[in-house]
Amino acid sequence: MMRLPKFDYRAPREILEAVKIIAGAGPEGQFVAGGTDLYPNMKRRQQTPKTVISVMRVPELNQISGEGKTGGVRIGASVTLTDVCENPIINRDYPVVAHAARSISTPILRNMGTIGGNLLLDTRCNYYDQNYEWRKGINFCLKKDGDICWVAPGSSKCWAVQSSDLVPVMVAIGAKLRFASTLGDRVIDAAGLYNDDGIDYLHKRPDELLVDIQLPTTNGWRASYQKLRRRGAFDFPVLGVAAWVQLDPVGLVKDAKLILGGIAPSPLEVKEAGQALIGQPLDREHIEAAAEAAYVKARPLDNTDFVMNWRKQMTREYTRRALEELRPK
Ligand SMILES: Cc1cc2nc3c(=O)[nH]c(=O)nc-3n(C[C@H](O)[C@H](O)[C@H](O)COP(=O)(O)OP(=O)(O)OC[C@H]3O[C@@H](n4cnc5c(N)ncnc54)[C@H](O)[C@@H]3O)c2cc1C
Repeated sequence: MMRLPKFDYRAPREILEAVKIIAGAGPEGQFVAGGTDLYPNMKRRQQTPKTVISVMRVPELNQISGEGKTGGVRIGASVTLTDVCENPIINRDYPVVAHAARSISTPILRNMGTIGGNLLLDTRCNYYDQNYEWRKGINFCLKKDGDICWVAPGSSKCWAVQSSDLVPVMVAIGAKLRFASTLGDRVIDAAGLYNDDGIDYLHKRPDELLVDIQLPTTNGWRASYQKLRRRGAFDFPVLGVAAWVQLDPVGLVKDAKLILGGIAPSPLEVKEAGQALIGQPLDREHIEAAAEAAYVKARPLDNTDFVMNWRKQMTREYTRRALEELRPK
């Protein structure tokens, strides 16, 4: 049985208290929400904070507010994935968010796991997500305790994969994220949070608390999400395709974004796919062109489930499916 290492546990009830505790703990401190990512990592000695600060008892982080469509929605970082899936305004005005959240793991995990934890998930890799003894057996890897990337030996970069279902969706729809620390607050676009490096995967200081996720107003855009995984009721994405389009009054694409998740250390925007659609009707021909652009751009590596070439092929099919879903009926 894998045991947790010893640590101090704190459960503040206010944002200011939380950010003061982590500032005092320094690099040895880490926030925890549902713990479905952090605690397994601690058991495997991948992350070993000495002070763990729960964000679950801060009321401001546990609320969903806003009118949706015309006023946007604010989701507190500690709202569980189940509450995201079941919220009537999110289901009515942001069905893509509810759908992606519903595709995450199992009901038990969604009852514990939070939206904030999902957006800040550690990157994943077959050579990293193993117990301590297994990793020691290969002399560890570049991401933790070693100096070789077993996926791409010779690479100075870690290729562990950004494997959250909600990340590509939040980037595609242009969600904003609010962080707090003892130095003040800042709000950034979701797209600006992720860094294409499996070790240093977030543009965020460890002492910054994610407070909320702000979904934009919904005038005129629609979005969809397609997830590839081995077992339909359980697994992490090994490819996620989030598509976002805005149509003009005559049905031509005014703007479009296509974001790929689960194939690189950060979500990947395929600008060529957007360009293939803009100014065109959302028909078979242009969807095909966008799907081809996504296929060309996708370069999955051999460090998650399934053969990488097949995952690349699937990029075409899953892009097609995501865009077909957005065609006017
Ligand atoms: C068996 C299994 C299957 C899974 N399947 C999927 C899947 O299909 N799709 C998917 O996307 N994910 C999956 N996950 C990953 C993950 O557990 C969930 O995504 C979950 O949402 C993480 O949320 P949490 O609250 O448990 O995060 P935690 O484990 O509490 O935290 C995760 C990270 O976020 C940080 N953090 C959390 N909240 C804050 C905050 N407010 N401010 C600053 N930092 C914070 C923590 O320090 C930690 O680094 C799976 C996990 C397991 C164990």
